[in-house]
Amino acid sequence: MVTTIAPILHVLPVLDEHYVDERRYPEGVAFMDGQYLPMAEAKISVLDWGFLHSDATYDTVHVWNGRFFRLDLHLDRFFGGVKRLRMKLPYEREEIGSILTNCVALSGHRAAYVEMICSRGSSSTFSRDPRQAENRFIAFAVPFGSVANKEQLERGLHVAISDSVRIPPGSVDPAIKNYHWLDLVKGLFDAYDMGAETALIVDTNGHIAEGPGFNVFVVKDGSLRTPAFGVLPGITRRTVFDLCAEIGLSATATDISRDDIKGGDEVFITSTAGGIMPVTRIDHASITTGQVGPVTRRLMDLYWQKHDDPKWSTAVRYP
Ligand code: PLP
Repeated sequence: MVTTIAPILHVLPVLDEHYVDERRYPEGVAFMDGQYLPMAEAKISVLDWGFLHSDATYDTVHVWNGRFFRLDLHLDRFFGGVKRLRMKLPYEREEIGSILTNCVALSGHRAAYVEMICSRGSSSTFSRDPRQAENRFIAFAVPFGSVANKEQLERGLHVAISDSVRIPPGSVDPAIKNYHWLDLVKGLFDAYDMGAETALIVDTNGHIAEGPGFNVFVVKDGSLRTPAFGVLPGITRRTVFDLCAEIGLSATATDISRDDIKGGDEVFITSTAGGIMPVTRIDHASITTGQVGPVTRRLMDLYWQKHDDPKWSTAVRYP
C-alpha cells in the first residue's frame, strides 16, 4: 500500500522546482493519498470531516540532529487516539513509521516538526453517518518550530491565565490529541489582551490545566507538580517525569490552583514544539525573582542531551 522509498526519490527534482515558487509554504514534504508531495500541494477536500467537524486526531513528533525523539511514545498515543475515535488507519504502525521517516528524509530537514493525522475523511455519498466515511491518513515534515522563541527561552515566557474558557474533559476529551482549539485560541487572545505572550487555561473546576500546545509544571521546594486533569498526556510531560526519576526529583500529577502556580519557585511549560520552556511571569507578576530557575535549567539541559541517546531517539536515514 505504501509507496516505497525507491519510486519516491524521483519526486525530488519536482520538489526542488516547487520550493522556488512556493516560498509562502514551509519547506517540507507531505504524504497523502499514497503520494509524497511538496507541502504546497498537500490539500484535502473541504468535504473531509476533519475540516468540516474537526473530526480528526493527530500527533507531532520532532526530529533533532537527524534523530526522532521518542517516536514510539508518539505512535502509541496516536494509535490510542485513533482507536478511541473509532477510526481505522489505512496503514500499519510500521508503515506509518516508514512514511514519517520518508517525509523527513525527503525534506532533508535535520531539525523537523513531523505531524501524523487521521481524519474521519469523507464518503462518496456525503453521508451524515461517520461510519461510512473513509478515514484519511496524512503526514508531513516541516522545519522545527518552538512555542517560545530564543529570547523567550532565555528570559522566560510571560503568560496569563484565561478567565473566559474552561477545558471540559466530559465533552471533547483533551487526552485525545485534537483540533478542537477554539478554547485554546480564545485563551490565547485573552492572554494577548492582558499583554502576555501565551495562555494557561483552567479546567471545569477552575484548576490550572494546560495551554495552547503545551503542558505546565510548577516547582516548589525542589518538588515538581503538573495538572492531572483536563490535559493531554504530553510526551514532553512524560519525559520530564522520566528525567526526574533519573536524577531523583519528585514529580507528581495533581490539582494545581491559580495561587499554587503563581506562588511556585519556578514554572515551565513542555511541548514537542520547543521542549522544556521557562515561564517567569504570570498575570503581570514575576515568579520569585523573575529569572529562569536552576531546576528548569537542569531539566532543559538534560532534555536536549537525551536527543543523541539511542535509548531515547532513532536516527533518520537520509538519501
Ligand atoms: N497540550 C496540548 C493541547 C497540545 O496540543 C500539546 C502538544 O501539541 C501538548 C499539551 C504537549 O504535548 P507533547 O509534549 O506531546 O508535545
